[in-house]
Amino acid sequence: MVLEKILSLIRDKRNPIYFPINYARAQELKHRLSSITLRPQQIDFALTFDVEYDFGSAGKEDCRYVEPFLTESAKLLKKIPSTYFVQGNFVKRFSTQLRRLQQDGHEIGLHGYAHEPWGIEWFVKEEIPTRTNRERLLKRALKEFQAAKLKRPISFRAPNMAIDIESIEALSRHGFAIDSSAPSYTGILPIKSTRKNICEIPVSVNPLPEFRIKMKILPHAYYRVFNMANLCGMNDEEFLTYVDDIIKCQLLLKQKPFLVFLAHPWEFYGNERFNYCSTKNYALLERRIELLKERFEIKFRTISQLHSSYGPQ
Ligand SMILES: [Zn+2]
Repeated sequence: MVLEKILSLIRDKRNPIYFPINYARAQELKHRLSSITLRPQQIDFALTFDVEYDFGSAGKEDCRYVEPFLTESAKLLKKIPSTYFVQGNFVKRFSTQLRRLQQDGHEIGLHGYAHEPWGIEWFVKEEIPTRTNRERLLKRALKEFQAAKLKRPISFRAPNMAIDIESIEALSRHGFAIDSSAPSYTGILPIKSTRKNICEIPVSVNPLPEFRIKMKILPHAYYRVFNMANLCGMNDEEFLTYVDDIIKCQLLLKQKPFLVFLAHPWEFYGNERFNYCSTKNYALLERRIELLKERFEIKFRTISQLHSSYGPQ
């Protein structure tokens, strides 16, 4: 486990040892993106929410914000099909709200059973369950969905976006079709791919890094993932440039443009841990969606609709 964590730290391409490669790649990509012209084209947009313990792995297994978020977001997203990746052990507790969301056209996917890791990453503190136990957790979660009279989930997002090939294989054996756990924060390309019959649809990320100085001298690559924290950290103009870069990159790679946004219930309520979290984030998200609608023809999709609208790879 310790060795695997060290290997995952070395593999992490944000690492200062990769600075020369990252810098050269970023310059080249920037140059290539500058040759792409954007038109007011159609963009598929998937809003996704990881319904989990407050603060995810950083929390203490409370869920104060889940109920108010499910109620409030159901009102706001009446006409916007979205995806809720829910912890398996929340399904029974929130079954009424989840059934209502599904009836309103939203998709309910799975976010692990109790926010355990599905792969080893250097920054994840919890122990990964054995392969057999992960299989058991999947079966348990599927039973919870069935008991709550929810459709069998076909989409999955691993907590902390940590997933290994064994977990992908287990998902495939249990009828899942989509995974959305690719490590966007390491600067992967914002495109879909296929592994073991599972379609990988990553949370969007700008593949152009920013270089932040760590320990006063080490330039560390930081990739802005399309999530709530980064949405709060950008003004409107920065946000539009950011989205343009993602779309240009997809066009450069001959992909149909799409965006996947990620947020968590606890990010929509003021709390003691993260100062960007606020009830104002509902309005911020709405405003940014309006900005995108002025620029592009936005089609809202659940993660499965995003998958099927692309056809077989
Ligand atoms: Zn999570």
